[in-house]
Amino acid sequence: MQKVRVRYAPSPTGLLHIGNARSALFNYLYAKHYHGDFIIRIEDTDIKRNVEGGEKSQLDLLEWLGIKIDESPIHGGNYGPYRQLERLDIYQQYAKQLLENGHAYQEDNGAIRFKVPKHQTYTFDDLVRGILSFQSEDVEDWIMVKENGIPTYNFAVVIDDHLMEITHVFRGEEHITNTPKQLMVYEALGFEPPKFGHMTIIVNENKKKLSKRDHDVVQFISEYKEMGYLPEAMFNFIALLGWSPPVEQEILNHDTFIEYFDGTRFVKAPSMFDREKLKFVNSKYIKALDVESVSKMIEPFLIKNDIHIENHAWLQQLTSVFQERLHYVGEIVELYQNFLNHPFHLDEEMTNFLISNESKALVALFKDLIKDMKWEPEYIQQAMKTISETLGIKGKPLFMGLRIATTAELHGPSLPNMLALLPKTTVLKRLEDTLKLW
Ligand code: GLU
Repeated sequence: MQKVRVRYAPSPTGLLHIGNARSALFNYLYAKHYHGDFIIRIEDTDIKRNVEGGEKSQLDLLEWLGIKIDESPIHGGNYGPYRQLERLDIYQQYAKQLLENGHAYQEDNGAIRFKVPKHQTYTFDDLVRGILSFQSEDVEDWIMVKENGIPTYNFAVVIDDHLMEITHVFRGEEHITNTPKQLMVYEALGFEPPKFGHMTIIVNENKKKLSKRDHDVVQFISEYKEMGYLPEAMFNFIALLGWSPPVEQEILNHDTFIEYFDGTRFVKAPSMFDREKLKFVNSKYIKALDVESVSKMIEPFLIKNDIHIENHAWLQQLTSVFQERLHYVGEIVELYQNFLNHPFHLDEEMTNFLISNESKALVALFKDLIKDMKWEPEYIQQAMKTISETLGIKGKPLFMGLRIATTAELHGPSLPNMLALLPKTTVLKRLEDTLKLW
């Protein structure tokens, strides 16, 4: 079998968008499923729109996502150059050939147009949508090379895909109508076209096509990276935008996606960019990490927001208290600040619990014990044990009673860890307030 070779062909016109990342990812997964090559080609012929640093940022972010690039302008390879502007002489040769054999003609201003054949049907078996057909009557003679000598996308893409021996092309559905133009060039030059798969659009929560102008939705991979989304979670989430795995499970790792991604199971309906799902997937990945790894990720967010880190043990405590609740690592700042500033208010359920369990002695003793005690989780733990032994209470009346009296919450992470994050004076004040119930 011919070696599978796919490419992701971004124009360096901006940052890596969710939609671009999905194109890259689907091509990558397909190539790796079949032990093929994943290539990056930079389509920079729209010179006015090229953005400084666009290429580097795209490549860096793809690698951040966990995509391994086999060939690119940076990684090299045997099929270069990998930037279209460095291939202008190649396009010229083929343009000349098309002019010579009558498939193209030159205009007065020097631009070259492709001459669309009459009464032709162009059909291809799309890997996502099945058979698609177009009539040549619906396509006008189109510009192949602009008057400045720069080829247009539909021409350059064919030459490059052919010379780079690309076997499969997964790209956005906006390119469906470009495909017949490309097939014409393949035919005119006697080249074998690759197989095409046009992925469905990505829509927002209002079912409108996700557009870069949609400012309500964060759409650039760099922004997610900055908020503390994990690359593995982004990879997982994006791979499910328009493709479904053959198992019920949706949390899958890099290698499992590759194992399942055989070019079937594409979803034909538009795929919704569901922010809640992304948060959910990301929180799953955060939960699965050990405390030390999450602490390391949390640290820069604290520093950036001027949150004082007492010491390493404190950072670990903070992490163990909040890790379960984080949707993205940067959320730590908000969670921690809310935790510190949370107003202390006992509602009816809490009050009833304390009254009916006769918790007054418990609250008073805890207050006495902690007054001159070192304020660290293990000492707090010890104080709770002392209370249990002295007053002969245990279980819910002890643990929930103390939790209510100190945090005005019924449930939450390990109490000693959580309390140690608050200033002791705050906890003493809360205990005093609670004692006013009696
Ligand atoms: N440069 C084109 C784009 O960014 C590539 C389309 C294709 O994959 O053929 O949309």
